[in-house]
Amino acid sequence: MPLLTALQHFAAQHPALTVVFVGIFGACIGSFLNVCIHRMPKGESIITPGSRCACGKPIPFWLNLPLVGWLSLRGQARCCGIPISVRYPLVELITALLFIASWIMLPGPKAALACIFLPLLILLAGCDLDDMMVPDAPNFALVGTGIIFSMLAPSLHNETGHPIEVINRIHALGDSLIGVAAGTALVWWIRTIGTVLAGREAMGEADIILCAGIGAYCGWQGALFCLFGGSVIGVITALPALISAKIRGSEYEGIVPFVPSMAAAGAIWFFRGPELLLAWHNWVAS
Ligand SMILES: [Zn+2]
Repeated sequence: MPLLTALQHFAAQHPALTVVFVGIFGACIGSFLNVCIHRMPKGESIITPGSRCACGKPIPFWLNLPLVGWLSLRGQARCCGIPISVRYPLVELITALLFIASWIMLPGPKAALACIFLPLLILLAGCDLDDMMVPDAPNFALVGTGIIFSMLAPSLHNETGHPIEVINRIHALGDSLIGVAAGTALVWWIRTIGTVLAGREAMGEADIILCAGIGAYCGWQGALFCLFGGSVIGVITALPALISAKIRGSEYEGIVPFVPSMAAAGAIWFFRGPELLLAWHNWVAS
């Protein structure tokens, strides 16, 4: 592939400039994610109409540039002065930083797949935080793409040991399917037991699909980590509100944001899963 070779050549010649380009690319994807987070839970099209202010006026493209647009407007719409949520630049910044981290920290094929896996996680987390509603399409897309890409890039599951390429692909497909099965089963059991014990629905169906999707990309260890690591992250983020409710002597009424916490844990595992496992082994053994 001459284009790929040219890109690799450029990246080797200008590493710093490449990081800047990767960041800009990430910010643009983040900008599109903002549109999806705003529209998907409402069942609106993510293609048409073009970007619009809350007052209905179309937004010109130069005010819509990722990060720069929000900063130049100081968080207020030019047309009507309505405040623009800080979520917009935040999603763009997080996506840009994650893309740069993938580029620097991950091997080639995995860095490319990070450009699909991580935006889907940000989208699902954003929808849950914004609307407490997780759309099915990107959630199932996570499962589907995870299974397909495992076959196309077996290095995603570190299945590169066999000299026959097809065997590596079959092994990686197996890892992915076991990850889906483990993610589905784990959340289903916790949900069932939790619902019986708590007397109300403990986890949603979206949690099951998300855990399966992370399993598809990261195998059963990743599914397990996203569940238990996600619980820890969820409790830590809910802790300030819990403590302040305790101090005021009132009942804690918030909920633990489980989808964003699971997504964060899934991303952590995607970057450094095997190293975490090794650190854990060493810690237990010492
Ligand atoms: Zn407006």
